[in-house]
Amino acid sequence: MSVYETFKKSFWGPTIAWKRLFTKPVTIRVPKVYREAAPRYRGFHVNDWELCSGCSTCSKVCPTDAIKMVPVDITVEPGKKAQRPAIDYGRCTFCAMCVDICTTGSLNMTREYIHISDDPNTFFFLPDETGIHHNNPPLGYQRDENSDLLDLERVEMEELPGEDRVDSFIEFVKGYSREQAIVEASRCVDCELCIDVCPANMDIPRYIESVYRDNTTEGVDWIYKTNPLPGVCGRVCTHKCETVCSIGHRGEPVAIRWLKRYIIDQESTEDIIRHAKEEIVKKSTGKVAIIGAGPSGLAAAYYLALMGYSITIFESKALPGGVMRYGIPRYRLPDEALDKDIEVIKALGVEIKCNTTVGKDITLDELKEKYDAVFLGTGFTTGRSTRVPGTDHKNVLMALPLLEKIRDYLRDPENAEKPPIPASLIVIGGGNVAMDVARSVARLQKMEGKKINVKVTSLESMEEMPADLEEIVEGKEEGIMFFPSRGPKEVVIKDGKIVGLKTVACTRVFDEEGRFNPQFDESDVTIIEGEMIVEAIGQAPDYSYLPEELSEKLEFVRGRLLVNEKGQTSIPWLFAGGDIVHGPDIIHGVADGHKAAIGIDEFLRNKEG
Ligand code: SF4
Ligand code: SF4
Repeated sequence: MSVYETFKKSFWGPTIAWKRLFTKPVTIRVPKVYREAAPRYRGFHVNDWELCSGCSTCSKVCPTDAIKMVPVDITVEPGKKAQRPAIDYGRCTFCAMCVDICTTGSLNMTREYIHISDDPNTFFFLPDETGIHHNNPPLGYQRDENSDLLDLERVEMEELPGEDRVDSFIEFVKGYSREQAIVEASRCVDCELCIDVCPANMDIPRYIESVYRDNTTEGVDWIYKTNPLPGVCGRVCTHKCETVCSIGHRGEPVAIRWLKRYIIDQESTEDIIRHAKEEIVKKSTGKVAIIGAGPSGLAAAYYLALMGYSITIFESKALPGGVMRYGIPRYRLPDEALDKDIEVIKALGVEIKCNTTVGKDITLDELKEKYDAVFLGTGFTTGRSTRVPGTDHKNVLMALPLLEKIRDYLRDPENAEKPPIPASLIVIGGGNVAMDVARSVARLQKMEGKKINVKVTSLESMEEMPADLEEIVEGKEEGIMFFPSRGPKEVVIKDGKIVGLKTVACTRVFDEEGRFNPQFDESDVTIIEGEMIVEAIGQAPDYSYLPEELSEKLEFVRGRLLVNEKGQTSIPWLFAGGDIVHGPDIIHGVADGHKAAIGIDEFLRNKEG
């Protein structure tokens, strides 16, 4: 450019700019009239905080990393986290993947599309149900129900059909193949909601991930950190974790329990023992006595042995396992699975003295003399009776002794006493123990060539029955008949023989405050026919092994021992866990045993120091 042209440009340039002041602007101002967006418009988000579980799946799927989970000051129920997604609209591309994947359907988009502010912070926004300007804008894009971002269907578990499985006591759930397990594991969105709900706080997403990566050895590592009874829990855990699984809001929850079983079934006992021995972390001195080789006692023994303590378990029965050995039927929990878990615990040096009843063969005072601490895991061993007239008849049995007799007989049919196999049975109770009795006797009837004739009656309606739903469904498939919402009145006896159970309608089990307070309609009478009755309405502890002077120093609440968060009773050297502390299932016992092991270790180290 010549000198003249340069001069001309810089002289006239400003006047051109000034001229633009008087011409029509090219940019469009914010429309004064708001234009309605299309019904499926992808505008700013809204999120129903009541529905949102804080699972963070939306945050994980976001391709531009526009969503951050932020802690919020709200009270949440178990299975939810006090965090909600906040969206950075500087990054958000309004692709709506977060809405499509939202596990609860709480996150949606609105038709609102205008937000003007000179404060950049307002573009990072924590949506609630009122929207970015808190004006409840109309909803725009909502979840596409055909979206396949989540895999909603569980890989089906192969099982024997009802009519075939009732022919024997063999385990009827087959277990996943490698391919099935990997596909099932791939459904997990790693939200970690299940961890908080598991009483043992198992790191479920990590062991599921190990299945997905086809590395079950690593899975064993994760499992044993908090649960040394995985072969048992992989089969009969009450799997509360699955009730909160994110995938369960829209589809079938991830089969957490079956994946745990898959991991343990792949690894040999020797490999698990080798792994467990590598975990022995420190050499502590000290001797601990454990009373009861049930879930809590075995778990306490495992973790104390890892810490280097010398452990002796005193078990009154001939074999270790407690309710796992003598209560739960073998079609749900075969001996081999329990034995495998116990072998690992014994391999750490834990001694189990069976056929040794504390209070009879050795006293608690003697244990106190010989050991530095004692753990009580004696469980609930005696049954409760309805005490209605006629329950003193010899053919009215308690559930636990009958289940024990059946398991002993199946273990050694040549030598064990044969359990009674009635032509018709009435089971009183609506819990898992009632189902165990009903389904076991149905099998025995079938195996004897009899017609299945087992009736379960409970105060609760079918919907309220405390038994696991799968137990009820499977029981029905096997031919069990149900008489729900009935209250037993009296055992009907003719010529010295039981012929039935007189019941009246139960109109309500719990009162408005949720307390057990059944109400009956005495005019609605039904006689349920049967020649034998089993009462399975609950169990109670037997503390007869506790010397009186110790009992007086212990605190009890409604029959259960009061302990601190480390399982320590009001007597410093005495710890307790499992059913006698709070129950109600195996995984709570495992968690109690683990906590108590930590408590005992602390107690003994403080004592040494
Ligand atoms: S995916 Fe849905 S439920 Fe989960 S945190 Fe996001 S908005 Fe909440
Ligand atoms: S198993 Fe279910 S609840 Fe647990 S992390 Fe996976 S998706 Fe979440």
